[in-house]
Amino acid sequence: MRKIIILVFIIVVLSSALFAMRQPMKCYLLKDMYFDHAVGNVYIEKNDVEAQQTIIKFISSARTRIQQKFGDMRAAPPILIAKSPNTVNVFYGNPYGVTHRSPFGSCIVIGDKGQNIDVIAHELMHAELAERLGHLSVITELPVWFDEGFATLADYRAPYLPENMDINDEDIKRVKQLFWGHEFYNDQRKIVQRYQAAKLAVMQNLKPEDYMGIFNKLEERQSFDKLIR
Ligand SMILES: [Zn+2]
Repeated sequence: MRKIIILVFIIVVLSSALFAMRQPMKCYLLKDMYFDHAVGNVYIEKNDVEAQQTIIKFISSARTRIQQKFGDMRAAPPILIAKSPNTVNVFYGNPYGVTHRSPFGSCIVIGDKGQNIDVIAHELMHAELAERLGHLSVITELPVWFDEGFATLADYRAPYLPENMDINDEDIKRVKQLFWGHEFYNDQRKIVQRYQAAKLAVMQNLKPEDYMGIFNKLEERQSFDKLIR
């Protein structure tokens, strides 16, 4: 009887872990079925060859933008450039972009509306945070408001520029109460406002003069607690 209980326990733990990692696992295991390998870690949906050169330039510009502002990057996750809604769905993406994380690494899926420097830079910031803080830590320790606010520092789309925002202290306080992803993404009517408030919340704790070298500081856990306060 005891052996059966242990076996059931192991099966439950293993299947929960597999379920939790289904998104990045699909990225790693099925990408060659849907995507052509373009260059380095970049994969572009089959039959979308004309996108290839443009998207490679966008990715390179996004990395340059981040490195000029924050310092050297280390994350080089697979970046899947998806065109059709079906492929976006298969890889648990959205029309813009998403970074799937697992204890073994990240995987970025970019949808058709995300094929620009801003969205790619935003997703690369998520991947770099995971690389520096540790893939398990970002899942368990990193509040979603900081994760999104930090990523949005490299995202210059008009609604996310501070001068275009109408956010007050209450909005910032409220967004800082959101720790888990499901709390942040659960209301599409408030989502833009949450990203805006999250960016301003991060900017309260991290000043532009401290941007350069912040990845190294986060990796050494310097100022991490102060930043997420
Ligand atoms: Zn994000």
